[in-house]
Amino acid sequence: MLIVGGGPAGLAAAIALRMQGADVVVADALKPPIDKACGEGLMPDARQDLAALGVTCEATEGRPFRGIQFKNWTDRTAVAVSADFESGEGIGIRRTVLHARLTDRARDIGVRLRWKTHVAFGNSVALDGAPCTYQYLVGADGQSSRVRIWAGLDRGRLVSKRFGFRRHYRISPMSNYVEVHWCDLGQVYITPVGQQEICVAMVTRYSTVRMQHVIDSIPYLREWLKAKDAVTGERGALTTTRRLRRVVKGNVALIGDASGSVDAVTGEGLAISFRQASLLSRSLQDGSLENYGAEHEKILQIPRRMAYAMLLMDAHSAVRNYAIRTLAHSPNLFRGLLNVHTGNETLPHFLLQNGAVMLKRCVCLSAQKSDPERAST
Ligand SMILES: Cc1cc2nc3c(=O)[nH]c(=O)nc-3n(C[C@H](O)[C@H](O)[C@H](O)COP(=O)(O)OP(=O)(O)OC[C@H]3O[C@@H](n4cnc5c(N)ncnc54)[C@H](O)[C@@H]3O)c2cc1C
Repeated sequence: MLIVGGGPAGLAAAIALRMQGADVVVADALKPPIDKACGEGLMPDARQDLAALGVTCEATEGRPFRGIQFKNWTDRTAVAVSADFESGEGIGIRRTVLHARLTDRARDIGVRLRWKTHVAFGNSVALDGAPCTYQYLVGADGQSSRVRIWAGLDRGRLVSKRFGFRRHYRISPMSNYVEVHWCDLGQVYITPVGQQEICVAMVTRYSTVRMQHVIDSIPYLREWLKAKDAVTGERGALTTTRRLRRVVKGNVALIGDASGSVDAVTGEGLAISFRQASLLSRSLQDGSLENYGAEHEKILQIPRRMAYAMLLMDAHSAVRNYAIRTLAHSPNLFRGLLNVHTGNETLPHFLLQNGAVMLKRCVCLSAQKSDPERAST
């Protein structure tokens, strides 16, 4: 089994496959611990999936959080709503620490790790110039996947492309939530990653906007996040929502961002990779990649819908204002959505329970906007 890419998806796949007894080689051009621009938050379901792979992140290695908070800023005021996870806690953990945990686990169970290895794709696949044979090839080489192009799996749709950045600050977290601050320029989300450290990630659709522009546009953040408290530099990456037609061809399969992605603001990229890794190993245990190809789409369904909704809120301030005011007025809705997001509730069940309330609230808000006096009576 050759896995190209030793990021979270490649390592999770390697661990899952090795746990089923496969002989696995992971090749990555970089060497660990590999860092990447990331919000660094793992939801409770992602922690569980990791634990199933034998990777546990101790609370002391990061900082647990109890839920998600949205704050929508217009000028100096914000409308806020928060919800706790139904069960368990999430954890904010530095990307380098997570990578080290995954690498340790992979090495301990006998995955063969080839760091700083150049993978070339021609008539055959070569590792540092030496041809390599394999029974299966897994492309875990991120969103600009070379494996995807080489295997002819690149057909699909790029739904969105935005620009993401992150920086760490040595500051005590303000709350036990991942705070997502919404404004016209994009979203800033703050994840506690230590007793005295936070990860600040920013996502924007404007190529010329940088982190400090967005922080400065929100007075609360401008006053809280002082440049002198920054402990890492600004690291950037593209974030996309991409849908592929197929993720399997012959003996090649794609996983993680290489296999389609959702915008960073969903905070789901890592969780998706871990679920895909388990699915891949289960499918190969049954002797083929067919099931992986068929079931892969289901894993992305809910995160993709969440991404569409959040991208709509990003692009249209009126939609964002309506949505967050509606959620702030009915926090149970937000809790329900978080439950759907973390797999504790199905979307049809949520819509059945809350569709009428959502509609009523939207109608009410429209009425308030067109005739505030009448609506208040
Ligand atoms: C700003 C930002 C914030 C985010 N926040 C969150 C968050 O809070 N929570 C969350 O779950 N997700 C978040 N994400 C998404 C998450 O970072 C990705 O989904 C995740 O990194 C995908 O992992 P991966 O292993 O598929 O790809 P990558 O992490 O990109 O790893 C790919 C690996 O492949 C290697 N590689 C590539 N090409 C080759 C080659 N030819 N030969 C050898 N090696 C190669 C690279 O060196 C790299 O190590 C965020 C993303 C961004 C940009």
